Amino acid sequence: AKTDGRNRTVVFDPRMQEDLMQSQKMLQAFTHAIKNNEFELFYQPQYNKDHQVIGVEALIRWQKGKDLAGVEHYLSPIDFIPVAEETGLIIPLGDWVIEQACAQLAQWQQDPAFENLVVSVNISAKQLAQADFSDKLLAAVSAYKINSRQLKLEITESCLLQNVSDLINKLLKIKEYGFKISLDDFGTGYSSLSYLKRLPVDEIKIDRSFVRDIMTDESDAIMVKAIIDLSRNFGLEVIAEGVETSEQLDRLIEFGCAFFQGYYFNKPLKLSELNNLILT
Ligand code: C2E
Ligand code: CA
Ligand code: CA
Ligand code: CA
Repeated sequence: AKTDGRNRTVVFDPRMQEDLMQSQKMLQAFTHAIKNNEFELFYQPQYNKDHQVIGVEALIRWQKGKDLAGVEHYLSPIDFIPVAEETGLIIPLGDWVIEQACAQLAQWQQDPAFENLVVSVNISAKQLAQADFSDKLLAAVSAYKINSRQLKLEITESCLLQNVSDLINKLLKIKEYGFKISLDDFGTGYSSLSYLKRLPVDEIKIDRSFVRDIMTDESDAIMVKAIIDLSRNFGLEVIAEGVETSEQLDRLIEFGCAFFQGYYFNKPLKLSELNNLILT
């Protein structure tokens, strides 16, 4: 133990020191990576029943350079988004994602093949909680002269940890500006059903964990069917994520789901791969 300036005894925990150094290192690495353009957006297509691409979800990757064979390596967001959230770095990183998505939409605007393509971006609770979040969105779309209707925000139920009526007001404002809102990972949180009625969202995204077992676990199938029915009754669009097989796709269609995303169609694609897919 040692004493601090006010003569109190503080317990020195080497792990705390280590964590602090870890997060300071992380802070430097992130700042450097943003400046150095080491982050990249991949795009996973979203389809309608007619197998037409109607949108893409932007998924962030961290480039870690090439291996000896020249293959590009990436760090998965599950390995750095949680750290970014803890350290507050999700704010500059999230700003970068929005900016990048808008820049991409502006570029696609030049080509009729990309007309009406909607880009969904993942927004973490801390980002949404910023007082100036909706102003930032508006600034980005006006800087890039894009249509706010082409930007969809994927939020999760973790956003509900803040004051719910504040959240509702904020979402209403965002929707008023023309942005679309999707409730991601639906069914995995605690509050799903009671908030569905109150939250001003356009779309429900059924979590991959339910879709995964839809053919083998009857209770998951019943759950998915119920989510689809409920959403449709509320006038919401429904998209299923993690669709991997044609059997799952058929079942989801039979249940009334209209939009799909998953490895059955495509993995998240590099920009060049997505462009090829759309243009050929
Ligand atoms: P998520 O938003 O639920 O994104 C879906 C994840 O499922 C993606 O993982 C995607 O690659 C994966 N996936 C898509 N289709 C399939 C499938 O058919 N089967 C399987 N097994 N997986 C599928 P990814 O890209 O590793 O992203 C993981 C999570 O990281 C995302 O989950 C999201 O929560 C977060 N994330 C990604 N990009 C961003 C970002 O720009 N900002 C923030 N805040 N979070 C992000
Ligand atoms: Ca998502
Ligand atoms: Ca999801
Ligand atoms: Ca998920």
